[in-house]
Amino acid sequence: MQRTSEWALGPEVSVVTAELKDGRWQVSALGQGEQTCPGCGAHSAARHSWHHRRLQDLPVQGARVTLNLRLGRWRCPNQHCERQTFVERLAVTAAPLARRTRRVADLVRLMGHTAGGRPGEMLMARLGMPASDTTVVRQLKRHAAARTPASVGVLGIDDWSWRKGVRYGTVLVDLERRRLVDVLADRSAATARWLEQHPGVEIISRDRCGLYAQGALRGAPQARQVADRFHLLQNLRLCIESHMSRVGRHHGRTLLAAARGAADAGSVKNLGHYAAAASWMGC
Ligand SMILES: [Zn+2]
Repeated sequence: MQRTSEWALGPEVSVVTAELKDGRWQVSALGQGEQTCPGCGAHSAARHSWHHRRLQDLPVQGARVTLNLRLGRWRCPNQHCERQTFVERLAVTAAPLARRTRRVADLVRLMGHTAGGRPGEMLMARLGMPASDTTVVRQLKRHAAARTPASVGVLGIDDWSWRKGVRYGTVLVDLERRRLVDVLADRSAATARWLEQHPGVEIISRDRCGLYAQGALRGAPQARQVADRFHLLQNLRLCIESHMSRVGRHHGRTLLAAARGAADAGSVKNLGHYAAAASWMGC
């Protein structure tokens, strides 16, 4: 193929040939990456040998593309460096030791984020970029681990059921950014440890579980603890239900039935009056 420049991935890679073999494109290229030692940062112009890498790249009209790269292995000029030789780096094209170009790795991650492991595997195969479900999930985890966690100021803590009724963990949410921060294995010790490692927490919103109160007190004594809205409303609902059921039992009927009866009778204006009247009449 003559117009190899159209296959170029960028200034780091110079494409030499591209040919279709057994329904797959084989692209041979020469690396022109950095000749800087990753150990000490020294620049080298003394080539030691060649290093070959095979990278999966974006498909062409549904056909898979394999990039066969020849990279230089260079001698480090720094005698005190622990690396005697190093392979040139392709900062834009691919991560060190990766088996895919960065643009394919990004697609694998996005597919995993959107579809999950197994569906992502099937879709990637259909698109001409096969990747196993474990690879899809691994890309997701790697990306999540590489993100620099932002400081959490307002933290929501609640329990998380690993197995309902048997084993519970803790889910931590950044309430300002409305994002999941972490999922912990248990409900007390891990929470305290996590808070010790993230000292920026100022407000902790939690339920009334004593374990979380102790964990928060141990891990972040400076933080202000507040009851979260969900549990406050839940407690309010339970109180109202409890109160209403007590009133109903006392008068021998539910207030709802009493309300209907009051409307039918037309002589009692509110529930309290009707209840008093019913009690006086011995109902
Ligand atoms: Zn070096």
